[in-house]
Amino acid sequence: MPRFPILAALAAACALPAPLAGQTTNAAARIDYTAERAAIAQFQDRDQRLQDVGWQLARANAAFCPRVVPGIGLQLQDMASYGVPAIARTALGLTGDFAVQTAARGSPAALTGAFARNREIIRLEGFNPNDWRAGRAMDWQRLARAHDHVDAMLTEHGGIAVTFADGETARVQPVDVCASRFELMGEGDRAVADGTRVVIGIGFPAFAYQEEPVFAALVAHELAHNVLGHDAWLDRVGRKPKFVRRIEREADRLVPWLLANAGYDPQAGAAFMIRWGSRHDSGLKLRTRHDGWDERAEAMAAEEPIIRALMARDGRADWAQHFRREIDPAGGLARTARR
Ligand SMILES: [Zn+2]
Repeated sequence: MPRFPILAALAAACALPAPLAGQTTNAAARIDYTAERAAIAQFQDRDQRLQDVGWQLARANAAFCPRVVPGIGLQLQDMASYGVPAIARTALGLTGDFAVQTAARGSPAALTGAFARNREIIRLEGFNPNDWRAGRAMDWQRLARAHDHVDAMLTEHGGIAVTFADGETARVQPVDVCASRFELMGEGDRAVADGTRVVIGIGFPAFAYQEEPVFAALVAHELAHNVLGHDAWLDRVGRKPKFVRRIEREADRLVPWLLANAGYDPQAGAAFMIRWGSRHDSGLKLRTRHDGWDERAEAMAAEEPIIRALMARDGRADWAQHFRREIDPAGGLARTARR
């Protein structure tokens, strides 16, 4: 699956009014920087919400995930991702191109207190990412490279030193998290998981759900696809509707487990499905890939007694041990009889 442009799309979606794009400096005086800042801030607010929830789920379930990686919960931003980098730079008051986007709540980055939003960054361990050549406007590859670089430092050196434009340096040490990135896409209303990333469009209806556990259920569904190895399995067995339905059901059923370990009420899984499904799950196309939303909510609720019993007994819901798989991630469908 091709990588999505992430922040790149923001430029087209909201940050830069189309008439301004491509105009000469004569237009610069007419740019409404207050509006630009507000558009960027709205994107960042949603990204913060996604990163907070994603971190909580990926951190709290690390003991059960088949693959864990060291993480510090830091998202960067690169002005090269915008349609007109100079406008974004001025709007945010930056000299260079890199700055803090988000530090996930409770993450090592957040706990340092150093990673305030939009704080300018000039060094990631030995490298200044501003020195890396950026492509044309809306270049998202350089930001991906910076995140890859951070991850490599965490894996190889057990930490990273980040230097800010004001000369201060913060050293951050990672903790284990389930291997998945969380990315907000600047356009669209879809949510997808590609095996390594959870990507949610800024227009996804769940951003309007005020209760964090209910929003978290959406993120947990996508994370479930990644930690259960669904994308690789579909690549192997083929993307027939009956197989897709199977992995969708399995992802749904894991949602309350992921929620419970992260300290959320596991009931929020079914609550999400009822709220989202009753409004949005009407298309026939969706029906060939998923069960009906009411069945999906029931399947999620059916997991709750097992989860509650495990939480009461062990203080955690060990889904690596106790979750009933419907597929064999290394083979085809699970051999065990369906409940
Ligand atoms: Zn899904």
